[in-house]
Amino acid sequence: MKAAAFNYQKVHSIQEALALLADHGDNAKLIAGGQSLLPSLNMRLSNPEILIDLQGVAELKGITFEGNIVRIGAMTTHTEIQHSSIIEKQLPLLTEVVPHIAHRAIRNLGTWGGSCVLGDPAAEWPACALALDAVMVIAGPKGLRKVAAKDFFLDLYTTALQADELLIASEFTMTPGKRVHYFEELSRRHGDYAVTGLVCSLQLEQNKITQSRFVYFSVASVPLLAHGLQSVLQNQLIGDLSNPPLIAQAQQSVQAEIQTLSDLTNSAEMKKHLLGVLLERAMKKLAS
Ligand SMILES: Cc1cc2nc3c(=O)[nH]c(=O)nc-3n(C[C@H](O)[C@H](O)[C@H](O)COP(=O)(O)OP(=O)(O)OC[C@H]3O[C@@H](n4cnc5c(N)ncnc54)[C@H](O)[C@@H]3O)c2cc1C
Repeated sequence: MKAAAFNYQKVHSIQEALALLADHGDNAKLIAGGQSLLPSLNMRLSNPEILIDLQGVAELKGITFEGNIVRIGAMTTHTEIQHSSIIEKQLPLLTEVVPHIAHRAIRNLGTWGGSCVLGDPAAEWPACALALDAVMVIAGPKGLRKVAAKDFFLDLYTTALQADELLIASEFTMTPGKRVHYFEELSRRHGDYAVTGLVCSLQLEQNKITQSRFVYFSVASVPLLAHGLQSVLQNQLIGDLSNPPLIAQAQQSVQAEIQTLSDLTNSAEMKKHLLGVLLERAMKKLAS
């Protein structure tokens, strides 16, 4: 199938995009890399009257590190994140994750912002944003507002973004001390969406865990932070994470807390089992 007819306008500033969103309301759709939107137009799942193309908005592109804040512009592509020296140094988790997102051609066009706004529960970036406690910077008719990642991903393909707003960037605060991470996803083939995935970021002081953020994705309608795990692991020595009793306690905690949903190919029970499998692997790897 081909998309229904639509008007198209390429904009060159955030203000221009906001003005068009205000004029056209629900009949307008922003387009970033088009890697998710174009298939949905072709399948006629979406029928906007006008597409507002963000490719010409330079202020939405690029990665900066100022003060203690790393900022990823919404129009930064997956590939640009992969090759950024700032990201490699400050947020190496993201560098490691990129090759797991789709395939090179898609990564060259798909963007950080498009992936976060789409809110696909199987996508890697929303889970990373939550694990790294990102802040989403949003522009709207009333100016700028900031929303923590934990309050941004609301439901299946639903975020806190309003129809007259656009995501302009995500910010990550770099705190002193050592940070370690882990990422693993189980998928049928490399580049496929994950059957179940786990991403985590730990803050350490003298090898003791002072903060742990384990986020599961592709298990429910949104990525889920394992809150209970934070108290289970608090003040544990990183080297002790491979202790079998601690692993068992941690697995019990996530399996009691995380309510999994089935998808087209995998049952909720299977995903519940995989929560524990991924957690055990993560804890053993982090300990070593
Ligand atoms: C075959 C295939 C495999 C894929 N596999 C994976 C995968 O394994 N993991 C994964 O995470 N993704 C995967 N993707 C999706 C890919 O990562 C997309 O790039 C991404 O989901 C959307 O980014 P985009 O820039 O292309 O957004 P678009 O498709 O242009 O837009 C997506 C949505 O976001 C909105 N939007 C975009 N930018 C903004 C903004 N700044 N402010 C407000 N709204 C905005 C659009 O209006 C639209 O509703 C796959 C895609 C394909 C086609």
